[in-house]
Order: sequence, then C-alpha cells, then structure tokens
Amino acid sequence: MDAQEVLRRELSTAGVFVDFDGTLSPIVPAAADARPLPGTGEVLLRLTAVAGRVAVVSGRPVDYLAAYLPDTIELHGLYGLESRVDGQLRQRADAGRWRPIIDEAAADAMVAVAPAGVDVEHKGLSLTLHFRRVPDAEDDAVQWVHDAAARFGLQVRSAKKSFELHPPVAVDKGTVVEERSAGLTVVAYIGDDVGDLPAFSALDRLAANGRTVLKVAVRTPDVSPELLAHADYEVDGPEGALELLQSLY
Ligand SMILES: [Mg+2]
Repeated sequence: MDAQEVLRRELSTAGVFVDFDGTLSPIVPAAADARPLPGTGEVLLRLTAVAGRVAVVSGRPVDYLAAYLPDTIELHGLYGLESRVDGQLRQRADAGRWRPIIDEAAADAMVAVAPAGVDVEHKGLSLTLHFRRVPDAEDDAVQWVHDAAARFGLQVRSAKKSFELHPPVAVDKGTVVEERSAGLTVVAYIGDDVGDLPAFSALDRLAANGRTVLKVAVRTPDVSPELLAHADYEVDGPEGALELLQSLY
C-alpha cells in the first residue's frame, strides 16, 4: 500500500503539515500581496476536523498567517520561532532577546538596500529581503545580508528570490514537524522551497523510526530542484496542493 493510501486510511492519527507561500498561496511579485487560494481555509478546517493534526508551517510571522486563515488552524511562523497552537500564541523563549537586534538590522537594510528596490520585510524576530521585483539588485542584497549577518550575529537563510536574517536559534521547519509529530502514525509535508528541506529530512528520520511518511513537492515555475529530488510525490502548483488536501477527507 502506498503512503497516500495509508494517509487516507489512518487519517485520524495522521499529521498533515503544509507550507504557506507557493504551497497554499500563489507566488506574487510583492511578498505582502500573498494570499491563500479561495477555499483554503475551509479545506484546512474540514481536514482539521478529521485528521490527527493539521498545521501550517511558514517563514511568515504568525500574525500574517492568522490574518488569512481560520482562527482554529494550528500555525507555526518564522520557521518555528513563534506558533499558535490551540489558540495560544507562543514565542520561543530564547528568541525574544534578538528583537532589538533585528530592529537595528532592519533599519540598516532600509538605508543600504531598500533604495535599490529590495523589499525589506521586518517580521519582528526575523528580517527578509525580497529581490523578486529587482533581480539586478540581487548581488548587492547578497553582499549586504552576509555582512549584516556577521555584524549582528544573525544567520542567513535563503528562499525563493529572497534572503532571511534569523536569530541563531536552532529551529527550522524540521524541528517543528518533529516536535508536533509525537503520537502520529503517518506524517505528510507539502512544500515548494529549500526552506522545506529540513521538514523533508525530519520525515526521513520519522520514517527510519517506523512512521509512514509522504513528502510532497509543489511544482511552481521556480520550485527548488533539490526539493523535487527529495520528494515522494509532486502536485502542480497551489491548486494541486489544495486538491490533494481536499482528496484526503
Ligand atoms: Mg513556500
């Protein structure tokens, strides 16, 4: 029996973890315009009612995700630095002290790279530079982000047409999925980007411990080839991801 069949059969003890950008929401030129496809909230609610666990795991702040998804959906934001579980907002205790440092880095970015058209997205506990609209500014953005990481003691993470400065706190989508998979018999993850690779690795570790897993890559024009290479299954764009979620209940 393949993993999708096991997932459907054991849905009540299965976990379904889903990325946001490029997975639930189509990629758009300006990051602030990203919205989930119509009907996404309803699908997640219906799935939450019957599955062991459903959660959205994203590099976005929880606030952003919460604005476009129903109140009862489990959310993990900023790669696990903050979350909303059972309606309770939580922040990693060791992350808070980095807030003023991120403020300082954001102010620096506004002067150094924003004038060239790079979108500076201040997410509270992390900072993202988007250069999708100004590909020519990529080299300068890369240079600044690495300099700033060294100056402020932050970590660089790359994503689609963007770079992120993150506190040096050991969280990623993989640690989130692993922590939230206790007691589940089947674990599925759906994502489209390099930031989702740690989640796929977490699923590999869960599989080594006897869990059934399903690693789903969302094919988009700029999907990570590395993610495709590690996936068990592909869907076509956020529409395909939504169809897969709908097919589970
Ligand atoms: Mg994504």
